[in-house]
Amino acid sequence: MLRMSRLLVRTLREDPADVEVPSHRLLTRAGYIRRVAPGGYLWLPLGKLVLDQVTRVVREEMVALGGQEVSFPALLPREPYQRSGRWDEYGEDIFRLTDRRGTGYLLAPTHEEHFALLVRDLCGSYRDYPLILFQMQTKYRDETRPRGGLLRGREFLMKDSYSFDLTDAGLAAAYAAHRAAYQRIFERFGLRYTAVAAMSGPMGGAVSEEFLAETPVGEDTFVGCPSCGYAANVEAVTTALPPPPVEDHPALEILDTPDTPTIDTLVDLLNTTGAGGHTDWRAADTLKNVVLTVDGEIVVIGVPGDREVDLKRAEAALFPARVAMFEDFASRPDLVRGYIGPQGTWKARYLVDPRVVPGTAWATGANEPGRHAINVVCGRDFVPDGIIEAATVRAGDRCPRCGTGLELRRGVEVGHIFQLGRRYADVFGLDALGPDGKPVRVTMGSYGIGLSRAVATIVEQHHDARGLVWPASIAPAHVHLVPLREMDAALELGAQLTAAGLRVLVDDRPGLSAGVRLTDAELLGMPHTVVLGRRFAEGYVELRERATGTRRDIPLADLADFAGSLV
Ligand code: ATP
Ligand code: MG
Repeated sequence: MLRMSRLLVRTLREDPADVEVPSHRLLTRAGYIRRVAPGGYLWLPLGKLVLDQVTRVVREEMVALGGQEVSFPALLPREPYQRSGRWDEYGEDIFRLTDRRGTGYLLAPTHEEHFALLVRDLCGSYRDYPLILFQMQTKYRDETRPRGGLLRGREFLMKDSYSFDLTDAGLAAAYAAHRAAYQRIFERFGLRYTAVAAMSGPMGGAVSEEFLAETPVGEDTFVGCPSCGYAANVEAVTTALPPPPVEDHPALEILDTPDTPTIDTLVDLLNTTGAGGHTDWRAADTLKNVVLTVDGEIVVIGVPGDREVDLKRAEAALFPARVAMFEDFASRPDLVRGYIGPQGTWKARYLVDPRVVPGTAWATGANEPGRHAINVVCGRDFVPDGIIEAATVRAGDRCPRCGTGLELRRGVEVGHIFQLGRRYADVFGLDALGPDGKPVRVTMGSYGIGLSRAVATIVEQHHDARGLVWPASIAPAHVHLVPLREMDAALELGAQLTAAGLRVLVDDRPGLSAGVRLTDAELLGMPHTVVLGRRFAEGYVELRERATGTRRDIPLADLADFAGSLV
């Protein structure tokens, strides 16, 4: 039984300064967490209880799928990360340190390298596989913008697990087991979420999904199909194939188009001059050519003029290459800024959006200042070097599965599962001897859940203007007892409910008004409040349900049944 008279909890009437999201505001006001540093939070007792519940649920599901818990240090030698290449790939996101002897260390952002080394050293026989290891551990990332309290910390808690298998089928099974466990975990948290196909970023590897909990404060935009349930990260959306193009087009024509450096000015001019004999030109009929550098090489990307190149999508498509906008047009006079067309003689790799299929005709630059070309036909006047998914995605774009207009939604990534394959095994020589004595290269998966982020995400989906609204599965207490006068009776009742298996919080603070106690109870957010009020002498208590706001008087004698229904 938690007694508020002794509990280190201080509720705040006012919103703390500089908080952007409800979870940060409410967890601070209700005395669950406190900010200590940018992206660094301490857990007060009630917060720690919630975090422990979240951790318990995840641990139960990880053990159920056969995982074994270990615990690594956060402070790790940097050499394995240099060997895997992630020392550079993570860039400035890693906290780097040097010890007194000058040896390089880092505060680990995740642990793939050291898990691979551990298993290489201890598991040399095929009999040691399959193997799943996990830990609940503090991670460090020097995020450019720590934000939203626990949502994006620089020190945060993660469950990370790693699977080790001898066959691709084994990896697929470990991945499927994690996927199912994650679904159970997020259901037990009471989270509304979507699993979306993802690009795997600096982890490498091919198959990967993110679990996004939908909330307006989410930083990840994803697309969802209201009709067939297709969902994907913006980076991973594939473009629905356009209808087959008309094959007959007039010959390419070059037009004087002075002062038309932008698509809008070009479309206006085409329409006012009736270019090509019509006046219904749209931005989508133009082909915009954007110049990027990809690991230093110049690459031109062609997208319909009503869209931009989305750099995150380009990066995901070209991973692991580094992608940037090309600016130094002075060094490439053949690339005429604002007037580039793929029919030109310039030499650079040319990739196009999937909508630019052979047989489609475009208005595009004529590779001279102030001039454009129309009826520039893909396959006739130019031949792209390849297709790239790099154009911006918009609400209403057609679902690649069923053709319905897609919706853009916002979410927080609470979990991420990857089939890494043999990337790390190759780097570290992770082999096991097979039954025939021949070495077999091990294949790995890695799977993360942000435990501290999950606490905040649950709050984002479960709160109202008055405070937190915990799902019973992870609430610090099932029941909050509020005596309006009968303090001793409340403590006695608390002891009975505790004995019946409930987690109980009693407001036994002396000398507070009923109003203060009830306001605090709503802020703190336990699923049920039991008020010992005016009718207590007659043998009744008031039972309030936090989520729905319903109140009813019940006979004291019925509390035991009620308690039974909660455990
Ligand atoms: P994000 O895209 O939000 O930066 P990530 O893709 O870099 O996350 P992963 O490397 O996949 O994150 O880490 C696994 C999980 O750890 C994430 O799904 C998320 O729940 C959690 N996580 C990652 N970064 C943070 C952070 N800065 N603060 C809190 N939780 C985090
Ligand atoms: Mg991720």
